[in-house]
Amino acid sequence: MNKPLAAGALAALLLTGTAVAQGSSLRPDQAEFRGLYKELVETNTTLSAGSCTLASERMAARLKAAGIPDANIHLFSVPEHPKDGGLVVVYPGTSKTLKPMLMLAHIDVVEANRADWERDPLTLIEENGYFYARGAYDDKAQAAIYTDTLIRFAKTGYKPKRTVKLALTCGEETSGAFNGAEWLAKNKRELIDAEFAINEGGGGRTDGTIAQGGKLLVQTVQVGEKAYQDFTLTVTNPGGHSSAPVRDNAIYAMGEAVLKVRDYAFPVEFNDTTRTYFTKAAALYPGELGAAMKALAANPQDKAAEAIVSRDRTMNSMLRTTCVATLVHAAATRSTPCRRR
Ligand SMILES: [Zn+2]
Repeated sequence: MNKPLAAGALAALLLTGTAVAQGSSLRPDQAEFRGLYKELVETNTTLSAGSCTLASERMAARLKAAGIPDANIHLFSVPEHPKDGGLVVVYPGTSKTLKPMLMLAHIDVVEANRADWERDPLTLIEENGYFYARGAYDDKAQAAIYTDTLIRFAKTGYKPKRTVKLALTCGEETSGAFNGAEWLAKNKRELIDAEFAINEGGGGRTDGTIAQGGKLLVQTVQVGEKAYQDFTLTVTNPGGHSSAPVRDNAIYAMGEAVLKVRDYAFPVEFNDTTRTYFTKAAALYPGELGAAMKALAANPQDKAAEAIVSRDRTMNSMLRTTCVATLVHAAATRSTPCRRR
């Protein structure tokens, strides 16, 4: 999930959800990456039963084995959240003037109920050129690529000009959990201070699996993020007995309100970034979608173009403010039976 993280964080896409090759044909360095990625994905980091601390320790052990000294590996956690720990690694650069860059990735994942999944969510499965598992994409692919990058640096003795920092953090997916990125910014600022940070948030599209000959259509870099806000709708009602029902009912009122949220479409609004994106990216999309993107960027009042572009859920979200019902709580004293004559 993408939520506002550290203020001013820039985001760029550096990952792919597709496999490079099947297991047997991997080069040794690819096999090592696969092992790291598999270990990270298969280390349960859900809030309920997992441990980001363990995942961090496992990544730290790999970095240490690659030759990164202990002094540059910083595991952190707080006593109140012993399983929500994280890791910062500093890979020193040669420049005395360039400020560091930060690679930031969260390693916690959303809960994964086995019964909801076709495949075991805690086992990395490769099928037809795609990886399947909880967190295989968001955001353990990125975390694994970052970690692997520093391992490659260390093994080859690479000396970057700019110091490269890595932060793997917990608590991004669940509000109220220990937020490692926020904690570092408030308590260990010097560890993560950087001229810029690279984080999750961009995206890409292909016209099929790369391993099977699909081509990359577009690769995007995220330069900003919509503000996020929660609203709570509350309905109360005196209630009554189900044997003598009335129309005035809290559940119906809430139902009507939620449907109004569904049916309200916010107007199309472009800023310089999104206008440029739709204008330029239009050329990458053949047919009516591309034409509609271009037309809408030129004229936000073009309703026909708006209808076509809005069918794409990602593009729809880039066009406008969006709002969706996500959680319902009910506190009725009794259920609502129907009574038959
Ligand atoms: Zn994420």
